[in-house]
Amino acid sequence: MSLIVQKFGGTSVGSIERIEQVAEKVAGFHANGDDIVVVVSAMSGETNRLLALASEIQDQPVAREMDVLLSTGEQVTVALLSMALNKRGVKARSYTGGQVRILTDSAHTKARIREIDDARMRRDLEDGSVLVVAGFQGVDESGNITTLGRGGSDTTAVALAAALHADECQIYTDVDGVYTTDPRVVDGARRLPRVTFEEMLEMASMGSKVLQIRAVEFAGKYNVPLRVLHSFEDGPGTLITLEVDSAMETPTISGIAFNRDEAKLTIEGVPDTPGVAYKILGPIGEANIEVDVIVQNVSHDKTVDFTFTVSRNDLAAAQSVLCRVASELSAGEVCADSKIAKVSVVGVGMRSHAGVASQMFAALAEEGINIMMITTSEIRISVIIEEKFLELAVRCLHSSFGLEREPKDESTH
Ligand code: ADP
Ligand code: ASP
Ligand code: MG
Repeated sequence: MSLIVQKFGGTSVGSIERIEQVAEKVAGFHANGDDIVVVVSAMSGETNRLLALASEIQDQPVAREMDVLLSTGEQVTVALLSMALNKRGVKARSYTGGQVRILTDSAHTKARIREIDDARMRRDLEDGSVLVVAGFQGVDESGNITTLGRGGSDTTAVALAAALHADECQIYTDVDGVYTTDPRVVDGARRLPRVTFEEMLEMASMGSKVLQIRAVEFAGKYNVPLRVLHSFEDGPGTLITLEVDSAMETPTISGIAFNRDEAKLTIEGVPDTPGVAYKILGPIGEANIEVDVIVQNVSHDKTVDFTFTVSRNDLAAAQSVLCRVASELSAGEVCADSKIAKVSVVGVGMRSHAGVASQMFAALAEEGINIMMITTSEIRISVIIEEKFLELAVRCLHSSFGLEREPKDESTH
């Protein structure tokens, strides 16, 4: 008998018919004797609908109230799924995040899980019930409802799997695994049977929304066996593992991630003196804005141009902070550009293969795509380009690195 945490995303519970299908599937697992905890998202489109309602009232509502609103989407689906299970003769109980004591910090709309009290869940499991838990939400120490950021139901599932020492955490979604790149953008994208936590973390951080970043972080930290699968089609999916399969030749690149949610800010003519980067980025950090790629050019006339990227949602706030900083530093103009995107090639194989960067830059050059900024990690190279070239860039890199082909299986030689 195994304990499995299964998470079903928004499209998988997007209608009553689909909720019934999910219930059928879960009932099947339960009938096999497994202990099941199900985590569900809100019905597809619901979180966006709630966000739109709020924006009709106020541009930036108080984050605490946003969380009270946004958490309702998942409360609907847990109840409906429990009903659908009960109808099939399966004992099921639905819970909000707060009810199962998913304790988070108080960073409303992007809260982090601190602790989970598993006592109540264990009691229900012992009693033979299926537990249906609302994803994406928790409660802070004072009892306020919090949410975990977009895509946060993945993190709820992994965190519950870690707390309960589940045998596997299964993320059911509308694709049958993690692909070499978003299969909706590149026709030849290929499902990866396995991908390492390290690679998955880079891909998620660089924009592959198939798994939320924090879910991957959590799974890596607590060594939770994690698998991505199709909700309604049978198949092995993708296993996220600690190690690459040693029988397979390690490909140089495993995947390509991209992110349209980027905007670029430049502050010109900044005095080239020690501490200036801190004077610029300190106030940005204090405004709770995350900075991504940073470039500072070489100084000629004792001033430098300082460029960095932020999420598009944060552009207006970052720009107003930067205008204030510019006048304090007697710097030049502040320029903003939101029509940019980031493309990243990711692979642990990069560690043992030279020339990945030059191959990437050559492929982009051949298509006439200009690179505005570059950043790297040990297993990733990212470039900022004009947004209009994004799909072309992803396609040409996918084919340049031969990602549509299966890597060779050395065990057959
Ligand atoms: P859910 O609602 O189930 O959480 P998401 O929409 O959050 O589903 O994530 C699944 C989507 O992620 C897919 O439909 C696909 O378009 C997208 N995606 C992006 N990159 C990848 C990738 N490398 N592999 C698979 N899917 C990807
Ligand atoms: N409903 C939330 C969202 O749309 C959480 C999730 O689906 O994981 O982002
Ligand atoms: Mg998701």
